[in-house]
Amino acid sequence: MLFTNDTETSLQAAVALVNSFDEPDTLETVEQLDSYFDEFQYTGRHDRDAAELEAVRALRPRLRALLTADRDGAVELVNRMLAESRAVPQLVRHDQWDWHIHAVEVDQPFATRILVETAMAMIDVIRADEMSRFGICADDDCDGVVLDLSRNRSRMFCSTTCSNRAAVAAYRARQARA
Ligand SMILES: [Zn+2]
Ligand SMILES: [Zn+2]
Repeated sequence: MLFTNDTETSLQAAVALVNSFDEPDTLETVEQLDSYFDEFQYTGRHDRDAAELEAVRALRPRLRALLTADRDGAVELVNRMLAESRAVPQLVRHDQWDWHIHAVEVDQPFATRILVETAMAMIDVIRADEMSRFGICADDDCDGVVLDLSRNRSRMFCSTTCSNRAAVAAYRARQARA
């Protein structure tokens, strides 16, 4: 594993959130926010209302800017996010999770916790000089963010939808030539 489990989960959650912005937008209802919360095994405060949904949706451009920044640019964004959220890193252990870091209290708004968790995870990425793990989807019609945590850095597409589409296109191109 490249990073610790909690860091990788936070990065994957951030990428999924950023990519939910793609057409069609897959984060438009409280139910979709619920699924996101469950999928990435979040705990703590979850208001399940329109205000929370709006706050989480509004994070997407900021997180996209962070994940696609160059290393020095990412440092600036991370420091600002941690300062504005008054992050205080504390080691905690809860549910099935062994010791890991929370830098804001669990009763803080969900959007604040996502922001701080992503910023904390990016500390590991920046310190390890691994910003190149982030890229943009190889599909010409998609600008989804790709997070490649694989050993051989083989990941090109943001989703199976995009990799399947590329596979179909490549197959058709071969058929046309044959
Ligand atoms: Zn936790
Ligand atoms: Zn894509």
